[in-house]
Amino acid sequence: MNTALVQTLARRLSSIHLTGEVRIMEVCGTHTAEFFRTGVRSLFPAGLSLIDGPGCPVCVTPNEFLDRAIAIGKTGAILATFGDLLKVPSSYSSLAKEKSLGMQVEVVYSPMDALALAEQYPDREVVFLSVGFETTAPGEAAAVLRAREKAMHNFSILPGNKRTPPAVKALLDAGEVRIDGFILPGHVSAIIGADAWEFIVRDYQKPCVIAGFEDFDLLASALELIAMIEQGQAECRNSYARVVKKGGNPRAMEIMHRVFENAPSVWRGIGSIPESGLVLRDEFSDFDAEKKFAVDVMPAKEHPSCRCGELLRGLILPTECPLYGKACLPDDPVGPCMVSSEGPCAAYYRYQGVR
Ligand code: SF4
Repeated sequence: MNTALVQTLARRLSSIHLTGEVRIMEVCGTHTAEFFRTGVRSLFPAGLSLIDGPGCPVCVTPNEFLDRAIAIGKTGAILATFGDLLKVPSSYSSLAKEKSLGMQVEVVYSPMDALALAEQYPDREVVFLSVGFETTAPGEAAAVLRAREKAMHNFSILPGNKRTPPAVKALLDAGEVRIDGFILPGHVSAIIGADAWEFIVRDYQKPCVIAGFEDFDLLASALELIAMIEQGQAECRNSYARVVKKGGNPRAMEIMHRVFENAPSVWRGIGSIPESGLVLRDEFSDFDAEKKFAVDVMPAKEHPSCRCGELLRGLILPTECPLYGKACLPDDPVGPCMVSSEGPCAAYYRYQGVR
């Protein structure tokens, strides 16, 4: 991208004089990190606060999911997971600890890799830990369809996928925190489409901008959102139109909905949100690890001092958690927000350190 354009946008952002405090929420965990990494955050005018939202799939996954995964692993099944989940503390352990004790936990880069594992070990059950938003759900659905096509009976997924718009709606309905506008996730929107966010304007009269991930995307989106807030406008703008279409990706949505259906889902710190989860349709129940493995799971518990729940509702910043950078570090995390590359605590620690 044109460096001169980036410099112009940066100058415009840093020279803004706000008429009052402005609080914007970035819903996407990747945006949390990118606002730091690109330096755009350091250009924010006085009075502009960027609040973290429920946009890190690993962070919003409740402990009960990992507890169940570990219980399934203890039956002898191979667990296949994205690397982000490995170090996340569960109620009583973590996948990394269980792996060190002998559980077969394999890091994969796609659900299809997990399927390949199931082909490699035809005499073992392979369970893919399906955690993610709408961005990854079509790939997971495609793996289930492929497994059915190949009549593979040793492959299943533990469904933990979530839908982001219901979570944003839940935050707005709760009204616990003042949010003047939203920076919306580019990757998720590429699947679900720009239209999926119209409710924020229609029902809550808040402005929002769908943003990409380059420095100029972040600058342009922040400028557009601030201008709308300052002018009292509420529109849903698409600043990432080179990737995000109004109707999203119909093919990906069709595959996703062929395999999954909407259901209530529990989000860490928020609780159960109607229609915010994706569960396997009945016709795919043979591939549902929750149904396949009748395991006993101890009641889930959270670390009493971890404040990930409040963080994911936009109530506090990572640095307001008393454990941040002290008892909770990326190498020895207390909560998921310090583990995932999309976790707000991990992003703050990586780019800002302890101050
Ligand atoms: S710093 Fe650690 S303990 Fe505190 S909210 Fe973040 S992940 Fe939880």
